[in-house]
Amino acid sequence: MEVLRAAVDAIRKEKPRKIVVLTGAGVSADSGIPTFRGAGGLWRNYRAEDLATPEAFARSPLLVWEWYEWRRSIVREAEPNAAHRAIASLAKALVVTQNVDGLHQRAGSQNVIELHGNLFRTRCVRDDSRRDAIHAFGDLPPHCECGALLRPDVVWFGETLPEGAFARASHAVSEADLLLVIGTSGVVFPAAGLVSLHDGLSIEINPQVSAISSACTFAIAAKAAEAAPAIIEAIHAGTDR
Ligand code: NAD
Repeated sequence: MEVLRAAVDAIRKEKPRKIVVLTGAGVSADSGIPTFRGAGGLWRNYRAEDLATPEAFARSPLLVWEWYEWRRSIVREAEPNAAHRAIASLAKALVVTQNVDGLHQRAGSQNVIELHGNLFRTRCVRDDSRRDAIHAFGDLPPHCECGALLRPDVVWFGETLPEGAFARASHAVSEADLLLVIGTSGVVFPAAGLVSLHDGLSIEINPQVSAISSACTFAIAAKAAEAAPAIIEAIHAGTDR
């Protein structure tokens, strides 16, 4: 593929050292986890935008939790794919992810900013205390020991990002020699705005044209698990790490 070859050439020439990888739901699509806007993104005919909101949770915590238990069961069964593994091989890179599935960490990435939280953590609606919640709940919706409802510790549409996460991501993106943008539609803000902070080589991997394709130096029209290993191999070859 011509664009992939051109991107590899650019990496060979520039030998980037400071690398940020921005990922979205598409990086996990090759692990069998549906994206919000692709095939399989609907659940019982609800769109994600109708369920991943504070208003939906206030209306029906049970419905929202049933959706999350469905998503959590898919992710529990999934494995990191070749893209997650290639990204994890960039030991010094910063991974900024919109994903809530934890697959980057399961693949071995150590330096991960989760902009939108994690499916396997809960938050008490009364005091905001967080705890890991790996296993399926027996009763839905789950409650805290204090009696209040628990909610998934994720960022819903209309909510602010975890404190400091966006500032750290912005700083790293603006300092990076190379920004890899993998599997994001580029329509969810503020995460999508990170791309405009980068001034240098940027490479997108997405089988579809996204809202940020034109802002990237190269837009490779391919699946993450197909193209990311080749791009990352070129980074290793150029920098010896
Ligand atoms: P999105 O669903 O809006 O877009 C996904 C993008 O991935 C699309 O542009 C699509 O063309 C692309 N894509 C599909 N298959 C691909 C593949 N095999 N390789 C590379 N790209 C592929 O997702 P988004 O941009 O991440 O933003 C929406 C929100 O969805 C985020 O807040 C995120 O938290 C949430 N989300 C997360 C997960 C997850 O954690 N796995 C899954 C669904 C949604």
